[in-house]
Amino acid sequence: MAEAGGGTAIDELIALMARLPGLGPRSARRAVLHLLARRAVAMAPLAAAMAEVAASARDCVVCGNLATADRCTICADPRRATGEICVVEGVADLWAMERAMVFGGRYHVLGGTLSALDGVGPDDLGIPRLLARVADEGVGEVILALGATVEGQTTAHYLAERLAGAGVRVSTLAQGVPVGGELDYLDDGTIGAALRARRPL
Ligand code: ZN
Repeated sequence: MAEAGGGTAIDELIALMARLPGLGPRSARRAVLHLLARRAVAMAPLAAAMAEVAASARDCVVCGNLATADRCTICADPRRATGEICVVEGVADLWAMERAMVFGGRYHVLGGTLSALDGVGPDDLGIPRLLARVADEGVGEVILALGATVEGQTTAHYLAERLAGAGVRVSTLAQGVPVGGELDYLDDGTIGAALRARRPL
């Protein structure tokens, strides 16, 4: 696969990089050549950062976010509101919410969605831990920010049922017309969801 002669450490590196999302053999070769040409300023710091993260990365014991200590930076931040928990499927979703800079509360990362087909049950998603947090942390609202997929919505309905008796407000993200979107370009499902989620102006 590689052009360096086959079987060398460089070939091994290219083969490993080629398995990364968004990269293939060609991009991996380009990236490795780039790094080799900048060994001191790019490759050595990257190798050191990877080794450090590989050794220290773990799941936050509270919310399931990626962390380099027992608690993630959000759970350890006293400025984050404790009364609101935003439930997301994965860390990428948490990062997306944080990029939007619109939520000042805390999170709960499920690590997937309920799936009878794949044998994923409530215990696999840390749902008992979420229910315990709601009871222990004085939570007033749980925001279900799950995907607008069948699995995401099934999981949201399950969570809403489990939280029904917990004395907490349960809400979900609105679905509908995206910001900057034109109706003519939307699919029927999105238009239907937008109509159902309409609000007084
Ligand atoms: Zn956390």
